[in-house]
Amino acid sequence: MEKEKKKSSQLPACPHQKKCGGCQYQGISYEEQLKKKETKVRNLLKPFGKTRSIVGMEYPYYYRNKVHAVFHRKKDGSIVSGVYEEGTHFVVPVEECQIENQKADAIIRDIRGLLKSFKIQPYNEDTGFGLLRHVLIRTGYYTGQIMVVLVTSSVIFPSKNNFVKALRKLHPEITTIVQNINDKKTSMVLGEREQVMFGKGYIEDSLCGMTFRISAKSFYQVNPKQTELLYEKAIELADLHQKEVVLDAYCGTGTIGLIASKKAKEVIGVELNKDAVADAIINAKKNGVKNARFYQKDAGKFMRELAAVKTPIDVVFMDPPRSGSDEAFLSSLAILKPKRIVYISCNPETQARDLKYLTKQGYEMKESVPFDLFPFTTHVETVCLLSKKAQ
Ligand code: SAH
Repeated sequence: MEKEKKKSSQLPACPHQKKCGGCQYQGISYEEQLKKKETKVRNLLKPFGKTRSIVGMEYPYYYRNKVHAVFHRKKDGSIVSGVYEEGTHFVVPVEECQIENQKADAIIRDIRGLLKSFKIQPYNEDTGFGLLRHVLIRTGYYTGQIMVVLVTSSVIFPSKNNFVKALRKLHPEITTIVQNINDKKTSMVLGEREQVMFGKGYIEDSLCGMTFRISAKSFYQVNPKQTELLYEKAIELADLHQKEVVLDAYCGTGTIGLIASKKAKEVIGVELNKDAVADAIINAKKNGVKNARFYQKDAGKFMRELAAVKTPIDVVFMDPPRSGSDEAFLSSLAILKPKRIVYISCNPETQARDLKYLTKQGYEMKESVPFDLFPFTTHVETVCLLSKKAQ
């Protein structure tokens, strides 16, 4: 019955799939996608221990809470918005995407319409002419709050107030609009400078019963429903009993550490991105958490400092970017010897590499669980528990 429902609710193949390249698993049934991901993780982590069944979604569409569009003016003068064709800087026009928040897509379509009436030109990478480079939209799953980030090549935004007014009239559900200025020749979407055009300049969402502030530049998981399941599992694996000193490494806006703080004696978070750390500190206050501290630092360097003074750490959550962790971090872990390490990863290949190191340093993998946070793409998130072997 459940299987039937899933099959019948499968959407027809996306017309943009070939050029966009964002969804490598288009045309493959969702069950098959899950099987492929589970097998991939199981094979990669087999040398270290057991992998449980993958946790998939009931309805694997429109899950992305963060949507990005690039704008382009065609030779005939018409304006398109969409994504870069894979590996190139050609813009593939996209009206609606099967994995993106639908409201965000509607806002992007309407911004495109407004550009015409306000005579705002999209930025041209070759000539450097034009104003609007990208639009980024972040949505709060539970709060419904919406942030629109207009990435411009210059700080001067003609008829700025009227543009904001017109956009809010079309979409009164938008809670904040931010202008981000990116005047560099770069493939990075966001620049350093930001100014709030409307609202607070950030959105809030809740996760596992706590509220989180998310700024334009902070990392926040794109699939909030699945993230809750992932975090619940991670915290269960950490097996906390109010007496542990917990390190939340690569902590972003402090989500994992703050959710775990109720069960821990103390939480120390470290994160490189300064906006994310500022969010984490505010998030601790907002949720009345008094036993968490956050540091803005490279996680490897921070660990070296902790290891140098032998700071007692009982449990480590680590959630590094796709490149995985580094030698400074892992070798310091081996010195600090926490009882348990809960390793969350969005790239099982680098996770397997890091596990190879840690399992040679007196740890064993107890279990691993893959989560599908990115349906229709090849990406998979995995949480695994490492325990210090008895000596
Ligand atoms: N745990 C958070 C964020 C995970 S994403 C969450 O679940 O939301 C990985 C994070 O690592 C990002 O916030 C990124 O800014 C941060 N990061 C990347 N390189 C880092 C480094 N060398 N040291 C510390 N943090 C780093």
